[in-house]
Amino acid sequence: ALVSAARDEELGEAAVTSRAEPWPNDPYPAGSDVSTRYASLRALLSGELSAESVVATLEASGLRGMGGAGFPTGRKWGLVRATGPGSVKYAICNADESEPGTFKDRQILTDQPHLVIEGILLGMAVVGAEEGWIFIRHEYGPEERVLHAEIEALREAGVIGENACGSGRRLDLDIFVSPGGYILGEETALLECMEGHRGEPRNKPPFPGNYGLHGRPTLINSVETFADVPVILQRGADWWAEQGEGDSVGWKFFAVSGHVENPGVYCVPMGTTVRGLIDIAGGVLGDAEVGAVQPGGASSNFIGPDKLDLALDFGTLAEAGTMLGSGALVVLAEGTDLLAASTNVLRFFRNESCGKCVPCRVGSTKAHDLLRSTLDSGSSVLDDVRKDRILQLEEAMRKTSICGLGQVALGPVVSVLGLNKGGAAARPQPRPEGSEEQPDR
Ligand code: NAD
Ligand code: SF4
Repeated sequence: ALVSAARDEELGEAAVTSRAEPWPNDPYPAGSDVSTRYASLRALLSGELSAESVVATLEASGLRGMGGAGFPTGRKWGLVRATGPGSVKYAICNADESEPGTFKDRQILTDQPHLVIEGILLGMAVVGAEEGWIFIRHEYGPEERVLHAEIEALREAGVIGENACGSGRRLDLDIFVSPGGYILGEETALLECMEGHRGEPRNKPPFPGNYGLHGRPTLINSVETFADVPVILQRGADWWAEQGEGDSVGWKFFAVSGHVENPGVYCVPMGTTVRGLIDIAGGVLGDAEVGAVQPGGASSNFIGPDKLDLALDFGTLAEAGTMLGSGALVVLAEGTDLLAASTNVLRFFRNESCGKCVPCRVGSTKAHDLLRSTLDSGSSVLDDVRKDRILQLEEAMRKTSICGLGQVALGPVVSVLGLNKGGAAARPQPRPEGSEEQPDR
């Protein structure tokens, strides 16, 4: 309640997200505190639970990285544990959630900070790191204060510190507030930033698991991934694996926004269909039909109304030419100008490009100019010359940009070209009222 009040005061009531029902997965009873939570961490530090069994449980559960890319979590923890045994290592929770439409981590940090913190502490103990960091978006002030209070309570209770849980091991955790900028959420730009350098992505490989903060092996996971770890350790790998719909495993938090009746954060079994999640969010505004959906945030390709029965899962969405991404379902009602909407997405990427590599820096600007000139002429349909140039730019950026931003920036635009009813032959339509471009920052 305190958090909500602080956030209401800071951001206004509209920023508080709704949800369908209480989080179904927290293994700790409501109202419990640091003395009864952190059960898996205590077991690990006392030797009752081994680091190998934690890795094995995560592997058996099928948990994948919820930051967007879905890398198997157990494999990552095992790799970092095996790298440079005995050397200095770090663990970092990436809480720099900034993808447009993505606000689920914020809700998790508000409601279940103890799960996120237990997850990173478990990660530190498993890989052999003494220092851990939560890299948090600077706009998440209320959530930072919640985390800070929990960390202090843990320190006072002796759960962390020089002699964590009386184990003789040092486990220390701190918060690093991002100075701002979408690209800092990219894990290697985040590392550069924490080292005091300009926040630009590094070439990968090497991955942070081998060469991370200050060149040391570093375990980096997102907020949701870390929060899932204590749930799995308490409830078991089999329980987690059984939770999803069909072949999918576990639970997934989604931020649902756009033209739906009840935008908000929802936690649903992985594999819930796109249609099912839209229904949970109250359906399309005013009972309109769906025009298009971005299932995984601004980076994901739009899918059309014929794909609403797709399962929200890493594999299914990838096969359908889009991605689960950051767990942000953006719904656009029928009649929405999709070219204008996707141009708006591109404009965000153009603005947030760090400029390190030419294809992204120059390509995003050129593509935006091409699209803007079409929209400004009152048309929502690209002529053949512009369409060809967009397709060429998309290919060049996808193949030659060094990080995900440049690689996916034009994907949403290209995906709506296919959804454009009537294709190039469609009659130009004026942009709907309210779709005008906002001024640049
Ligand atoms: P990636 O595939 O390069 O890496 C995913 C993770 O797996 C990283 O932690 C990486 O270090 C690790 N990894 C990959 N291959 C590895 C290997 N061979 N050995 C060891 N570790 C390995 O993807 P990425 O560029 O880090 O992330 C892209 C995703 O981020 C996209 O899917 C996008 O949806 C998402 N995203 C999220 C947000 C947000 O706000 N949550 C914002 C932008 C993008
Ligand atoms: Fe920077 Fe874009 Fe290159 Fe990524 S792809 S490093 S954002 S210029």
